[in-house]
Amino acid sequence: MSQAEIHNPRRLPSVDEVLKTEVALAAIARFGRPAAVEAVRETLATLRASKMPGTSAEVADMATQRLEAQDRSSLRPVFNLTGTVLHTNLGRALIADVAIEAAVQAMRNAVSLEFDIDDGKRGERDDHVRALLCELTGAEDATVVNNNASAVLLALNTLGQGRDAIVSRGELIEIGGAFRMPDIMARAGARLVEIGTTNRTHRKDYVGAIGSDTGLVLKVHTSNYRIEGFTAEVEARELVEIARERKVPVVHDLGSGTLVDLRRFGLKHEPTVAEAVADGADLVTFSGDKLLGGPQAGFIVGRKDLLAQVNRNPMKRALRVDKVRLAMLEATLKLYRDPDRLAERLPTMRLLARSRADIEAQAKRLVPVLTKSVGQGFAVEIAACASQIGSGALPLEAIASAGLALRPVDGSGRALNQLSAALRSLPVPVIGHIADQSLVLDLRCLDDEAGFIANLSKLDLKGGADAMA
Ligand SMILES: *Cc1c(COP(=O)(O)O)cnc(C)c1O
Repeated sequence: MSQAEIHNPRRLPSVDEVLKTEVALAAIARFGRPAAVEAVRETLATLRASKMPGTSAEVADMATQRLEAQDRSSLRPVFNLTGTVLHTNLGRALIADVAIEAAVQAMRNAVSLEFDIDDGKRGERDDHVRALLCELTGAEDATVVNNNASAVLLALNTLGQGRDAIVSRGELIEIGGAFRMPDIMARAGARLVEIGTTNRTHRKDYVGAIGSDTGLVLKVHTSNYRIEGFTAEVEARELVEIARERKVPVVHDLGSGTLVDLRRFGLKHEPTVAEAVADGADLVTFSGDKLLGGPQAGFIVGRKDLLAQVNRNPMKRALRVDKVRLAMLEATLKLYRDPDRLAERLPTMRLLARSRADIEAQAKRLVPVLTKSVGQGFAVEIAACASQIGSGALPLEAIASAGLALRPVDGSGRALNQLSAALRSLPVPVIGHIADQSLVLDLRCLDDEAGFIANLSKLDLKGGADAMA
């Protein structure tokens, strides 16, 4: 402590005095001088404003904490214990190991992205996945863009700009965020022609609407909602027949889509891309990071002549994907060649296929661990859970799962909020959901049990309480 500090504990050290401390020197080495100086200045200003004292060493410590907080990435790994496997807000599909390796190779090296190694001439970036997509879907041709929203936009713009795009009122869905079918159709330059009603659309509605100005008929898989009761829709196969007679293409937006029959994994059937192609849709669009289990991407598969038009559209260039994602997509798609090993190699399928018994056994192992870390204020019980696929796939389908319910013994909502906050403040934040006055952790997506336990040892319920107060 300097003389001045001894004489006047209210006096704050100068920036230079703080920067000479060992802690500050370490901070300079870690974060660079400009950032360290700025952090010391900000710390001193805060202390001054609140008339708080502080020694050089204390200020240096506080400045280092400030630097560490700034340095922490805001895009952090979390434990997704929400029960929703493909959680859009938590980044959807986890990438398979082989795809991660392929991405690393592509990142570190120059690659034959648009270069044909055999003849030394220019190639096309779609070539790396086109044949695989055709093989897996039965389509004639295929292309890849940024996401399925782009795929829909590009298909609609290519076939429907300045023309009519016919769609059933029962299929004018909002996916979430800013994706609303009518808006995307308008932005694609197509004139939206709504037919039928919310619950019932018939063959005669399509027949009556198709005319010389029709660019396409759009069929949308109403991923995230179901209309039940007095309903009628024209199935894809029949719709194709109606449109084909009148020489109008059908675009089928499958949303998630899947490349395998999910019944293989004990789930309900979700329309596969191959089925949509076999039903005769001229173009089919679907996502890369939903059930397919790859990185964010959107696919358009279908008729060769129409894909040639899609590829000539200048928008295609604006929506294309980079080498890293192509590398991941190629490796991910290859896994589908061996469906028997899919559940073992593709994280999305592995998590979806986990049996309730397996998850419940994990819950049993974790009860004592959780009981110890949350303390006496909470009761910890094994709970039956209903996982969801997420991202609009099979929205009404609950997958039997298990988890832990953490209930405040005093029954207070405040204690529950404090617990949620404390779990979110862990080095790897734990995200659950609140149901029946409990915080429920669905364990379906808990892969790294040892990491989870180590992480929990840092749980600070008091810190969480203070943070909330
Ligand atoms: C999810 C979804 C989209 C958007 O796909 P992204 O890959 O998220 O862009 C479009 N249509 C349907 C029916 C969907 O379910």
